[in-house]
Amino acid sequence: SIIIAFESSCDETSVSVVKNGNEILSNVVASQVESHARFGGVVPEVASRHHVDNMLYVIDEAIQQANISIEDIDAVAVTKGPGLIGALLIGIQAAKSFAFVHNIPLIGVHHIAGHIHSVQFDYKVDYPAIALVISGGHTELVRMARQDHYEVIGDTQDDAIGEAFDKVARVLKLPYPGGPHMDRLAKEGRHRYDLPRPLMNDGTLNFSFSGLKSAVINLVHNCEQRGDKVIASDLAYDYHQAVIDILQKKINLAMEHYPETKSLIVAGGVAQNSHIRQALMESSERYDLNILFSRPSLCGDNAAMIGAAAHIKLINNQFESLSLNGQSQLNIEEETAE
Ligand code: ATP
Ligand code: MG
Ligand code: FE
Repeated sequence: SIIIAFESSCDETSVSVVKNGNEILSNVVASQVESHARFGGVVPEVASRHHVDNMLYVIDEAIQQANISIEDIDAVAVTKGPGLIGALLIGIQAAKSFAFVHNIPLIGVHHIAGHIHSVQFDYKVDYPAIALVISGGHTELVRMARQDHYEVIGDTQDDAIGEAFDKVARVLKLPYPGGPHMDRLAKEGRHRYDLPRPLMNDGTLNFSFSGLKSAVINLVHNCEQRGDKVIASDLAYDYHQAVIDILQKKINLAMEHYPETKSLIVAGGVAQNSHIRQALMESSERYDLNILFSRPSLCGDNAAMIGAAAHIKLINNQFESLSLNGQSQLNIEEETAE
């Protein structure tokens, strides 16, 4: 099958052409990061306006690069949520218009299902699987009995992991988004600061990052007040150690609860993190488990992952009418096929 996919849930305008759910014919991503960096975060109104400006160009470019004609396309896929509502609606309107004009069926995709199924481009996933979703807005463990079955078995009680990375980076005066800068800085660091690991030993699969984030912010402020210098690289190092300990502990617990699990998928923007990748790779050797990381270039938001997830819905005949609306909040469990 050939699917053209649209993604505009946050600050990336992306259109991709995907073959059979596992081959990228094109994946054009127009990032707005520079426009938002001076505000230290994504400004929803600015994002919507950029999506409008970029969309037509990105569609043309994706079709050209894929070297296909419109008649080859079997379905139009689009992120229906969750995300910024104004941003989502630009992609949805573009996808609906495309589907209507060319008389092609429409598929609505959950953004996080997209992050998870991005691994299809590099692996054939064995189920049952557990997906660890670590992104700007989510920190979740999702159990998947099949490729179209989603059960949230762990979730963050407060901040998402990527959000915490970005806020900690901000007090260290790193540019936005701070995650990649923290990653780089930690390579030069060593252990110096003792940081908490909230909820690590609470016996549940849930996460909490706000206490860890606050501990770092307080530490920096206290140092500044005393006139001490914070060693940013060491703080970045210890922050990573805390995050990695928490993730490892929860993965261990999930494997104890669900020993039949065959694959661990790690996806979302934070899955690009080199320290997290290395640590989880090493710990997975303890289990009879395939650990499948999303390819670094597909961890951030992109439309190829939406095309991968849409392929499963195409097989299941799960289509949308042209009255499809965006949803800023959307539970992934509702995506489970009958
Ligand atoms: P969601 O997918 O939950 O709706 P989002 O789409 O905004 O949120 P993503 O694009 O998946 O989030 O990920 C963006 C996040 O990934 C940002 O918080 C960014 O700092 C973080 N990130 C990117 N690269 C790295 C890295 N190397 N280390 C840590 N964090 C990173
Ligand atoms: Mg983004
Ligand atoms: Fe995302």
